[in-house]
Amino acid sequence: MKTIQVSVVTPDGAVIETDVEMVSVKAVSGELGILPGHIPLVAPLTISAVRLKSGGKTELVAVSGGFVEVRPDKVTILAQAAELAKDIDIDRARAAKERAERRLAQAKADDVEFKRAELALKRAMNRLRVGGGL
Ligand code: ATP
Repeated sequence: MKTIQVSVVTPDGAVIETDVEMVSVKAVSGELGILPGHIPLVAPLTISAVRLKSGGKTELVAVSGGFVEVRPDKVTILAQAAELAKDIDIDRARAAKERAERRLAQAKADDVEFKRAELALKRAMNRLRVGGGL
């Protein structure tokens, strides 16, 4: 089976660097399945799970937006924050979710605070999904 190199990088450093058979990401424009030899592209990502598939197994990485850069032999994901499923602190994500929900209930829909709380809620829900806390 052919493989493609993938790295997930944040301002704090690399979260994972590995070779996989397929990478799936959720771009703003839709889901992308990337196999070795894919045409080059750059796309913005949503707050979502990156799926790294190899040998019948799938490893999940929670990413808080960012970009994916695809080259035929390498995929680079640049994210503001990213966590492997095993590194996600479920209690922290639950607390962040509850905080964001309280802020959403208080803020007005056209407020910048509302938008901020919405994004915080998305990050928390994504971490809970990837970390197995939902
Ligand atoms: P919180 O309110 O809990 O800080 P947040 O969504 O505001 O959540 P971020 O600003 O996205 O947090 O991330 C800050 C740093 O903390 C990043 O390095 C991120 O990987 C890490 N991080 C955030 N939440 C978690 C979590 N539940 N488990 C592990 N690491 C986390």
